[in-house]
Amino acid sequence: MTCVICRQAEIEVGEATVTLEREGLTLAFKRVPARVCPNCGEETVDEPTTAQLLAEAEALARAGALVDIRAYSAA
Ligand SMILES: [Zn+2]
Repeated sequence: MTCVICRQAEIEVGEATVTLEREGLTLAFKRVPARVCPNCGEETVDEPTTAQLLAEAEALARAGALVDIRAYSAA
């Protein structure tokens, strides 16, 4: 698949760092599976993975966490 942003390169399977902020919580997930453009660096995380990250962020925010950095692990 060609990158939809730059249209210059084929998207590769890789990993991304996703940062979420909500209700005072700053949460970074590392090593999230993503499709990455080797030309412009555009990272795309698929919908189920995004939903899982958001659910984890909600749970951490409710638990009172303010900052967290964790490695992604599949549910
Ligand atoms: Zn690109």
